[in-house]
Parts: sequence; structure tokens; C-alpha cells
Amino acid sequence: LAAKINKFAARFIMEFLSAPVIRVQSLKNLYQPQGVEVAVLRLDEVHPLVSGNKWFKLQGYIKQAREEHKTALLTFGGAFSNHILATAAAAKELGLQAIGVIRGERSQQLSTTLTDAESLGMQLHFITREAYKHKEIPGSILLQYGEHNLQIVNEGGYGLLGRMGIETIAANRSFQDYTHIITAVGTGTTLAGLVCIKTQQQEVIGLSALKNAWSLTAEINSLLPAALHDQYTLLHDHHFGGYAKSTPALFQFMNNWYSKTAIPLDFVYTGKAFFAVDHLIRSSYFAKGSRILIVHTGGLQGNRSLPKDTLIF
Ligand SMILES: *Cc1c(COP(=O)(O)O)cnc(C)c1O
Repeated sequence: LAAKINKFAARFIMEFLSAPVIRVQSLKNLYQPQGVEVAVLRLDEVHPLVSGNKWFKLQGYIKQAREEHKTALLTFGGAFSNHILATAAAAKELGLQAIGVIRGERSQQLSTTLTDAESLGMQLHFITREAYKHKEIPGSILLQYGEHNLQIVNEGGYGLLGRMGIETIAANRSFQDYTHIITAVGTGTTLAGLVCIKTQQQEVIGLSALKNAWSLTAEINSLLPAALHDQYTLLHDHHFGGYAKSTPALFQFMNNWYSKTAIPLDFVYTGKAFFAVDHLIRSSYFAKGSRILIVHTGGLQGNRSLPKDTLIF
């Protein structure tokens, strides 16, 4: 892990405040029979640990931390959180301290995600589910670091700073060629960023990874100027039973997709979102001639929590 980090460190710091190169992988022929074209925006390739959309969402917070001479990033998450690991890795590379406030009790056997976060130097603090609901920062942390030294990053990078980071995906490039831009949704921050960069004709679609997340629309709209409220479609029926739940059909799709495209997906977000897009295409949701850009939001590290041999990649 340390070697991986060092290899990327120099590039990372240089590029952190500017826009990295992101590949668009065209899958022109995959849905030829259905008459639509699909391409994938490979945010998963931006960084091995500060993965996918987290790289962009963290950017705004880190900029602010540097401007205000903060010494530590503090954020919130669960045991398998991509955001926790991304924050730990970003802080390490930028020479900031990292504090993770984690939901629930510390288990005997930490998840691989939290083990890695700790080995990257993140200080983990476990708080009860009740305290977590209110995002309580333990008093011992405030004492240890001093409140003014902490850059607080919302759970999942949610917020205006996160949204603005996502918008930099479109810096120096245009996605005008596409009729639809599609992403998985957790907090909706990525979706909000995409709504800000879309053209008037383009449709942005979000696929919720959570079950019955009815408050999402209000949370997304609160990140958007009024003129952009509801300028997107949020679909709620593709969560496979709920957040981080899975079915054999999901894994079968992910393996099949990998065989056809060599694109690995994670089972919490992108697997479900890509499955949904595949389903929607096959049920003629999109008009013939549509050109669809699916955002690969990363998160592949989360697959490590699956039993070995679940996935072929
Ligand atoms: C965190 C995460 C998301 C959710 O992004 P939001 O901006 O919170 O909606 C989607 N995909 C992956 C892979 C993630 O890790």
C-alpha cells in the first residue's frame, strides 16, 4: 500500500488543484441492436485509493483546508466507506492529519477499508449509532486538535464544495456529444455537479443506491440554484434491496459486463447503476440514437468485502 501511495504521491499533489486527464471509453457496438451508443467516463482510473468521484468531491474541501491552514481533515463514515479511505489517502499525500469518525463499535476484526485507512495514518474514532446520527464530534478530538485546526468534511463529501469539485470534471472538455449523463447516487453531490455542467438539452439521470431515499431530491436541490432544481431524473428502483445489499443476479451482471468490456464495477454503486442502464436500454427507455455517458464513480476497493471468487476480476 505504501509503495502504491508513493508512486502516485508526486503526481497527485501536482494535479490535485488542477483537472486530471480522464478517459472516456467508448462502447460503440455494445448496444447496436438497441440503436443506442454508450460510453463510460472512467473516474475509477484517476487514483487507486482516492477513488472516482471522491477525488473530485474532496478537492474543494482540501483547497479550503490549505487556504485556511487547517492541519487535519475530519470526516464520517461506515466500516466499508469509500469516502473514509479516500480521505485517509488524500490527507496522507498532502501531509494533513486524518480523523475518521466511524459509525458503531470497533469490531475485533476491522474491515479491510478501515484497516487500510488506519495504516494510512487515519485516526479512527468509533461512536454509537445514535451519536453518529447527529454527527457528533467526540470532545477528545476537539481537545486534541483544536476545533479551528479541523477541516470538517461532510459524510460522503456531501455539500457545495463537493459539488463544485465534481464540476471540474468538465474543465477543458465538453460532454456535449451525449444526450444523457448517468451516475450512481449516494448523497447526490455527484449528480448535482453533473446537473451544473450539463447543457439544456442533455438529460442527467441518477440511480439511487439507497432504498426509499425520498429525502434525496430536497438534499440535491439544496446544492443547486433554483433554476436547476429538478433538472434531473432520480430513479429509486435499482438498489437491489438496499444500500450495500446484493443478489446473485447483480454479481452475474458485473462478471458478464467485465467479460464484455474489461470494465470492473463495484457492487455498492456502479454495479447497480450499470445494471440499471443495461436494463433501461433493453426495455427501450432511451430513444433510438441516444448517446449515453455513464460515469464510473470508482469505489472498487469495496469489492474486497465480498467472499473470494464472487467476482472474476
Ligand atoms: C460515494 C460513491 C458514490 C455516491 O456519490 P454521491 O456524490 O454521494 O452521490 C457513487 N459511486 C461510488 C463508487 C462511490 O464511492
